[in-house]
Amino acid sequence: MTAKNKVETRGFETEAKQLLHLMIHSLYSNREIFLRELISNASDAADKLRFEALSTPGLLEATPELKVQIDCDSEKGVISVSDNGIGMNRAEVISHLGTIAKSGTANFLETLSGDQQKDSQLIGQFGVGFYSAFIVSDEVEVLTRKAGDKEDQAVLWKSSGEADYSIEAAVKPERGTTVTLHLKKEAVEFAEPYRLRGIVKKYADHISIPVLMEKAETPQEQESDGEKAEAASTEKEYETVNMAKALWTRPRKELKADEYKEFYKHVSHDFEEPLEWSHNQVEGKLEYTSLLYVPSRAPFDLWNRDAARGLKLYVQRVFIMDDAEQFLPLYLRFIKGIVDSNDISLNVSREILQKDPVVDSMRSALTKRALGMLQKLRKKDSEKYTEFWKEFGQVLKEGPAEDFANKEKVAGLLQFTTTASEGDEQDRGLTEYVSAMAEDQDKIYFLVADSLKAARTSPHLEIFRKKGIEVILMYDRIDEWLMGYLQDFDGKQLQDIARGELDLGKLENKEDKAKQKKVEKELKGLLERAKDVLGDKVQEVRLTHRLTDSPACLAVGEHDMGEQMRKIMQASGQEVPASKPIFELNPDHPLVEKLDSEADEERFGDLIGVLFDQAALAEGRELDDPGEYSRRMNKLLLELCQ
Ligand code: ADP
Repeated sequence: MTAKNKVETRGFETEAKQLLHLMIHSLYSNREIFLRELISNASDAADKLRFEALSTPGLLEATPELKVQIDCDSEKGVISVSDNGIGMNRAEVISHLGTIAKSGTANFLETLSGDQQKDSQLIGQFGVGFYSAFIVSDEVEVLTRKAGDKEDQAVLWKSSGEADYSIEAAVKPERGTTVTLHLKKEAVEFAEPYRLRGIVKKYADHISIPVLMEKAETPQEQESDGEKAEAASTEKEYETVNMAKALWTRPRKELKADEYKEFYKHVSHDFEEPLEWSHNQVEGKLEYTSLLYVPSRAPFDLWNRDAARGLKLYVQRVFIMDDAEQFLPLYLRFIKGIVDSNDISLNVSREILQKDPVVDSMRSALTKRALGMLQKLRKKDSEKYTEFWKEFGQVLKEGPAEDFANKEKVAGLLQFTTTASEGDEQDRGLTEYVSAMAEDQDKIYFLVADSLKAARTSPHLEIFRKKGIEVILMYDRIDEWLMGYLQDFDGKQLQDIARGELDLGKLENKEDKAKQKKVEKELKGLLERAKDVLGDKVQEVRLTHRLTDSPACLAVGEHDMGEQMRKIMQASGQEVPASKPIFELNPDHPLVEKLDSEADEERFGDLIGVLFDQAALAEGRELDDPGEYSRRMNKLLLELCQ
């Protein structure tokens, strides 16, 4: 081909363009991170080459030692970051540096507000990557040659980070990638060797390959021997400036919090610090090291089914793959980190991972480890845990349905609002609920409603308030579904207070029971009349003792689908008929007493109709015939005025 020196100019993909623009403008206050991203990419490139070389050793040619080298020219304001990793061919350069491959990018961009401060946080969640080079550069050049390709098959990519980039064929004697930054005037300080060294050290210590920089001159050398200094400038001497040891292989005692935090940013491409981590070196039947992190913030694609998730997998310190999702269940998909196994084969593939019993054992151990880390965080720092819960609580709620074996553990991590936390929004967990239970209480009571407000004003709570029994208030869309998988906790049954007949167990006293039996007999006729009026609208009409202030309420049959669940299914396109409610009347309410003695059948019908509709409204149900409700109400109001 004669494409050799033809320079082609191509436009960035729209999304890449938008992202670039945003990044340059919103990350201004944290410019030095560009170096972290470039070193991170170089180290990934080395990891990938080492992996490829397992099956194709020839790729390493005569230079099997993988490294990163950083050079600078403070006068010209130029920095270059070179690696001898996997490199890229032309098609890869176009696809990796000209487009953004992440799914959901367009949606992400739509969520941005234009407010720089807010957006810079969001962009952190998205991950900044290579484009961060443009925060400090007027122009960026990438000269790269894929391992295995010939010298003259290299590619030179150039861009000023605006609308387009150019790409041309080039020659490069060594495989790998050199990224050269021509710094903006206001960013030339980064090309000062001293400054640069400081930043490199900060970001590169945990990287497993050596990062080389030109040897720093000692002050004596500078003064005493001019000739020597000159010689050194023609024949540069390099030294390794980082520790060059994979962080997770170092003993825990030796590692500082800051090192863990930096490493997190490298593996997760997250801009923010992690909330918590857990580092474990496991020996015995299985040998592996894991380093799991809980991010501070949910990534933009947490709810995207196709989003990449999982841990970075290493086998005997060799990088194998990103996003190995087999090591943690889906409801822990927010956990980031690495796992390094001594038992998995080096030539493992995703397909093999799925079937490997070693992976199964590791998965169950890592799941326990992750849950344990959350449990510890909950105990140790409730403020941090509240932060975690806000970001990831919804995902964790998928746990009991997905992971039967750890149901109890996951349940212990859930947070709820309860009637005991009214006023302040301090959430409580099931453990706290259970330890605050009265001696005679043998169940955990909960109520599901459309909103917190609807839950708080629900008539079902009346008797519980009167008796001072705590009730968990659930109003999240998935709560009813979740509770379908949680029948008990700590040996105590979880009871929906709007489902079935009220059963307070030992909390009810005998005298009350006897009195209730008597009333039930007396009001039998009233119940039959009410059922005749309501007909098909209800399953049953019965008396209840769960109310103290309201005249009536609706209950759900023991095995019927609740309203929330029905709404979820309807929203997902499934046609689910509403289950018929049970209409319950409060025999102690004056209105109910009046009703019993109402001889006028039409008036009786109106009153029952209104009570029924009101009870439905209190449950957040829609009325079958709102017009009829208003007509009846107006008729009754008019009577009042006469
Ligand atoms: P990320 O690293 O999050 O995937 P980047 O924007 O930093 O995103 O980089 C995009 C892609 O470009 C990388 O996934 C990688 O395939 C490629 N790339 C970047 N830098 C290098 C490099 N030094 N060597 C080889 N490939 C690279």
